[in-house]
Amino acid sequence: MTEDWSRKPPVIEGSKWRKAPSDAIILFKKGKDIDNWSDKKGEPAGWKTSCRTMTTSQTGNIITKQEFGDCQLHVEWKTPRKAVGDGQGRGNSGVYVQTLYEVQILDSYENETYYNGQAGSVYKQSAPLVNASRKPGKWQVYDIVFHAPLFNEDGSLISPATFTVFHNGVLIQDHFVLKGPSVYGGYPKYTAHAEKMPLLLQDHGNPVKFRNIWIREL
Ligand code: MG
Repeated sequence: MTEDWSRKPPVIEGSKWRKAPSDAIILFKKGKDIDNWSDKKGEPAGWKTSCRTMTTSQTGNIITKQEFGDCQLHVEWKTPRKAVGDGQGRGNSGVYVQTLYEVQILDSYENETYYNGQAGSVYKQSAPLVNASRKPGKWQVYDIVFHAPLFNEDGSLISPATFTVFHNGVLIQDHFVLKGPSVYGGYPKYTAHAEKMPLLLQDHGNPVKFRNIWIREL
C-alpha cells in the first residue's frame, strides 16, 4: 500500500567532471555560447571569450536569454592567480539567480571581509558554513539548488526563496531561507516578480573567469 508508482524518475546520465548531466541546459561550454547571454538591455554580452571560458570585461553584468524558476545550477569560476586588491575588491563577482538573489563570488583565500560577504555567502544575509576556497588562479565550483519565492496575486509573499550551495563539493549553505533580494545597503525586502527570471553574472570590475555553466529546471 505504501509503494509509490505515481511518477517514474526519468533515467538520466549523471555529471562527470567537466561534463553536464544529460538533461541539463548548457548555458556556457564553448566561446560561442556567449550567445546564450546578453547585457541588461538585451544587447550582445560584451565579455571576452576563449574556446572554453568567458571573462568579466568591465562591460557590465550579463544575463541569460532564457528565464528560470526553481533550479539546480552548476558554475565554475576562477579569480586571477595574482591576487590584486583586498576585501570586497579581490575577485568580486557573483551569481544572481533570478537577477536578484546573489551567491557571492570572491577571492576568499586568506582575504578577510565581512563573513556574510565572503565567497559562498548569500550576500549580506548568510555567511558560508565553512570557507572552502581554493587558492587564487584555481578553478572553483558552485553547485546551487534554488527555490524561487512565491507571491499572491496582490503581491504578498506566500513562501520565500531558498538556497542550498556546495562550494568545491562542500555544503556551505544548508537550505537557507532568504530574507529578500540581495542588497548592498539596508535590509532586504521581497517585491513580487515573475515566476521565471534570467540568471545574472556580476561584473564588479574585477577580472573573473567562468566556464562550464549548466542548469537543470526543477
Ligand atoms: Mg559580488
